[in-house]
Amino acid sequence: MDDYPPGIAVPPQSFYKGLERLEPGGSVPYDEDRINVIEAKALIDGTGARAVDHPVVVTKGRHISIIDRQGQIALPEGPNVHHYSFPDGYLLPGLIDSHTHLMFGVAGASYEDVIENDSDEVMLLRAAQNAMIHLKAGVTTLRENGARNKVTFNLREGARRGYVTAPRMLLCGRPVTVTGGHFYWCNQQADGVEGVRAAVRELVKDGADHIKIMASGGGTAITDLRRPSYTVEELRAIVDEAHNMGKPTTAHCLATGSIVNALDAGVDMIEHAGFIEPDGSYKFDPYVAERIAKQGTYVSPTVQTGYRGMEALLNKQEREGLSPIEEQRLEWTKAKCDSQMEFLGRLYKDWQVPIVSGTDAISAFGDYCIGLEIMAEAGMSNMEVIRSSTNLNAHALGAGEIVGSIQVGKDADLIVVDKNPLEDIKALRTMTMVMRMGKRIL
Ligand SMILES: [Zn+2]
Repeated sequence: MDDYPPGIAVPPQSFYKGLERLEPGGSVPYDEDRINVIEAKALIDGTGARAVDHPVVVTKGRHISIIDRQGQIALPEGPNVHHYSFPDGYLLPGLIDSHTHLMFGVAGASYEDVIENDSDEVMLLRAAQNAMIHLKAGVTTLRENGARNKVTFNLREGARRGYVTAPRMLLCGRPVTVTGGHFYWCNQQADGVEGVRAAVRELVKDGADHIKIMASGGGTAITDLRRPSYTVEELRAIVDEAHNMGKPTTAHCLATGSIVNALDAGVDMIEHAGFIEPDGSYKFDPYVAERIAKQGTYVSPTVQTGYRGMEALLNKQEREGLSPIEEQRLEWTKAKCDSQMEFLGRLYKDWQVPIVSGTDAISAFGDYCIGLEIMAEAGMSNMEVIRSSTNLNAHALGAGEIVGSIQVGKDADLIVVDKNPLEDIKALRTMTMVMRMGKRIL
């Protein structure tokens, strides 16, 4: 574990040791002969190691082949060599989003509006667009946490064939949910030990890289986000079946009770960690936090959810005032956003829980950096925020052997920004260059 300097440790996930090399997320066409020479002002490699001044990175085909200091090596020459110089640029590994929903992305529309109005084909086209928007925002790898039917499997097949350009996509396909549970309209409802085992097998057969479990209700109309949905027995069966097939698991947990159930079952990652009590209040539970830390369970706190909505309401309040309904909505959204940030800060500072960055992108793709800004505001150092959005995230997703850091042999997934993200994390709002597997996208 020599590439992990001090900081929050990477929890071992021995059940899929070695499986990382099996290309989670699959591959896309790339130019084997292409060589890129990239020079920048500084390099931040994603592992938490100190930034390096005046680096030069050479990529060949899909991989990073040389990392050195400018002037230290003879640069390759020839017709296949493409030279990029960014004298003011900071070179980083491509960013990773641990939580997207590519089929959505209709601003202002509820889940139900989209589900009722749009066909799978329309969702697929929108997903392709969302994937590209995210890629241009520097997200070269994403984990997809739930779409209807085979929308994301088809998108990935299109990317594999070169019909569309997209980030590396680690897919759950459809989330496993109880009958009538959160996201039931994705069509993977499953109940009981036998039922959930069959669902996991079906998803893996369709191409799932991980299993997403809806362990509590959520923002869908008929579910209850204050209460767990699956029993521990069912969750254990899902985890057991997934691990047996070499797939990690992640659970959507808004209710505190669902976090406890997920921990009992040994789920690998917790999404949201809402700490919502049965009475609907947000209440951090240090005993539960201690368990998350002790078990080495990753948390993807999706801290930015609700934030843009809150911003819009605050702006309107200042400009023209709010209706009573809007006032109430603002109050709720504020409580949610404040608690998300507070809980993240406590998990990170008091319990050293491994935190990874995920947008839960539903309405806005490409708006990745805001989550990092909130993570920094919650008390994480900028270096840790970068690590959470690159190397640590890659390990959490089972893709740590392939992406997540600038190291020889890893995929040439690279970004350049023009300001120093160690000084101001907002630097990651604007990309100067995005490269995926040696192909320049932006
Ligand atoms: Zn989600």
